[in-house]
Amino acid sequence: MTAMEAKTRHILGLSGGKDSTALAVYMRDKVADMEYVFCDTGKELPETYEYLKRVEAFLGKPIVYLNADRDFDHWLAMFGNYLPSAKMRWCTRKLKIAPFEKYVGEGPAYSYIGIRADEDRFGYKPSLSPNGGIIPVYPFKEAGLVKADIHQILEDSGLGFPEYYQWRTRSGCYFCFFQRKIEWVGLLERHPHLFEEAKSYERPDPESGTLYTWSQQESLAELQAPDRVAKIKANQHDLMEEMKSRKKSKRLVDIFEETNDLQDDFGEPCMICHL
Ligand code: SF4
Repeated sequence: MTAMEAKTRHILGLSGGKDSTALAVYMRDKVADMEYVFCDTGKELPETYEYLKRVEAFLGKPIVYLNADRDFDHWLAMFGNYLPSAKMRWCTRKLKIAPFEKYVGEGPAYSYIGIRADEDRFGYKPSLSPNGGIIPVYPFKEAGLVKADIHQILEDSGLGFPEYYQWRTRSGCYFCFFQRKIEWVGLLERHPHLFEEAKSYERPDPESGTLYTWSQQESLAELQAPDRVAKIKANQHDLMEEMKSRKKSKRLVDIFEETNDLQDDFGEPCMICHL
């Protein structure tokens, strides 16, 4: 079958985050044969699964859950027990991008991406195939929609924000290394068993003795010490107060998100996980 003969599919990858959800809402009545997919690492937050159920009900169509051929623990062993990090994002490649590409196949397919007009970035780099591969589409950029518009879309739909937004601003695995310190504290307090599971991955390398940690410069055992938690909370409180005084009319959830942007020292987060 040639590119001209192949029917171009329409695929929208949900991450469980607000931007991809808002895009699904925005596109629902614009593209009748949209396929919705979610790359499930099996390590997502309970709030994400719950939110996706509500999104699915709103869309009136099933969300296809894509799983990697092998789970996180398999790939961790393959990568020498070296935890993924902002510099070594093997998890994104193996658990998110590969299942998505496998699902799309040879294409051609439009991949709808929820990057906004007020963001200076682009998403998934298209793969090439004889049938035309994956063609990225940016409806929010094309329509000039910015963060406030996305929030409005979610509120108008009745879906609102994912529940985890009260303590964390990005979707993705519960142990994601893109989390800020205050978000690790959130995980500790909201999902202590998941915090313990994340902690159990922090093991010394048997040969070098190096301790691989999720969070920069400290282990989760150190981070959960009461005085350290108190310090992290105090820092966050100061930051929130500063942001509040600058932007009086903002809601707490917006301020929390902005403190995240402000403290984002990880570089570009992975968009297939966090949009
Ligand atoms: S959410 Fe974080 S840990 Fe999970 S696959 Fe994405 S980058 Fe990796």
